[in-house]
Amino acid sequence: MKTVDYIVVGLGLAGMVFCDQLEQHQKSFVVYDGDFPSASKVAAGLINPVILKRYTIPWKGEEQFDLAISYFSRLSEILNLNAVDVMPIYKVFSSAEDQNNWFEASDKPGLNRFIKDELIRNNSETLRAPYGKGEVLESVRIRISQLLQAYSERLKNQDRFVDESFDYDALELDGDQGVIYKGVKAKAIIFAEGFRLKNNPHFNKLPLVGNKGEYLIIRAPELCLKQASKSTFFVIPLGDDLYKVGATFNWNEKDSNVTASAREELQAYLSKILLCEYEVVDQEAGVRPTTGDRRPLLGRHPKHPALVLLNGLGTRGTMMAPYLAQLLYEHLENHIPLDDSVSITRFPKKF
Ligand SMILES: Cc1cc2nc3c(=O)[nH]c(=O)nc-3n(C[C@H](O)[C@H](O)[C@H](O)COP(=O)(O)OP(=O)(O)OC[C@H]3O[C@@H](n4cnc5c(N)ncnc54)[C@H](O)[C@@H]3O)c2cc1C
Repeated sequence: MKTVDYIVVGLGLAGMVFCDQLEQHQKSFVVYDGDFPSASKVAAGLINPVILKRYTIPWKGEEQFDLAISYFSRLSEILNLNAVDVMPIYKVFSSAEDQNNWFEASDKPGLNRFIKDELIRNNSETLRAPYGKGEVLESVRIRISQLLQAYSERLKNQDRFVDESFDYDALELDGDQGVIYKGVKAKAIIFAEGFRLKNNPHFNKLPLVGNKGEYLIIRAPELCLKQASKSTFFVIPLGDDLYKVGATFNWNEKDSNVTASAREELQAYLSKILLCEYEVVDQEAGVRPTTGDRRPLLGRHPKHPALVLLNGLGTRGTMMAPYLAQLLYEHLENHIPLDDSVSITRFPKKF
């Protein structure tokens, strides 16, 4: 029997940042990933510290932001990649009132670090912005797929990665001693399965509602954008005249298939804002692991403490993941209590 400190199920953003916590603390582990369609594989990976609908900072935003930037820069360096791109975001104003709200927000403590107090007049001949734009400062784009690919290779080389779907029926609870899975004994198992948590018999009653998002990838040689542009949707430069456009929000569908309706919605948007030709070269879809109360799902199963959850990263998983992995690690190893706003114990009837 092989013994490790932890078994991890899922190597999306959540699984990767938790494994990295374990590596940093010299803990042994093994990861299982079945290479299912995932949110992390399609996400643009923008780390945007401002909620651009309301001009507010998300929950623990500044703390999460600082940690995420240093975390991804370090990981990118370890893996010999350039996976962190400086990516200013230009918010395209929808009206004079919208402009006004932006300048009011730029005075507020916390927001003034990220909201530039200046109106950018539109001088683009290819993108409409009659009310001008405002710049979000310090935002970056993380090339998540590239990081995940390189990180899983690294784990394979270390003999810590098993490329297969986790079989819940093969999991044995070893009393107070932890778990045993296919000849591997561990003191706990961390489930980081994204929206596929719905298949996990131990946690599937938790309110992970899920929200499907779709992107179009377009080629537009005349557009020449250097910044991500945001009005109803984002237009994000990928290099080589390619742009990611989206993503849609669909609360009804929970699969990762691309749809004609999302394509039409995004093309209708493009026809309103673009003044140049483009061609669609691809379309992508994924399900965001969102929760009813928009808070993450962390912690030990109340009846089987060796079963642990790291989920509910929602719409801003890139910024949130390093912070949550750190909270969870401190909880498991150093018994630091989890705040009610993130702990799964806020749903006592769901177990
Ligand atoms: C269209 C779209 C755009 C987004 N854009 C952004 C953005 O710009 N910025 C941002 O911060 N966030 C964005 N997000 C949100 C972000 O992608 C998610 O919050 C984050 O990726 C969730 O990561 P996760 O690891 O929890 O889940 P996932 O990425 O879904 O990963 C789950 C992993 O678990 C594995 N798995 C599941 N079940 C099993 C099993 N039984 N056995 C083995 N392996 C299993 C899967 O193969 C997968 O690798 C976006 C999401 C979508 C869908």
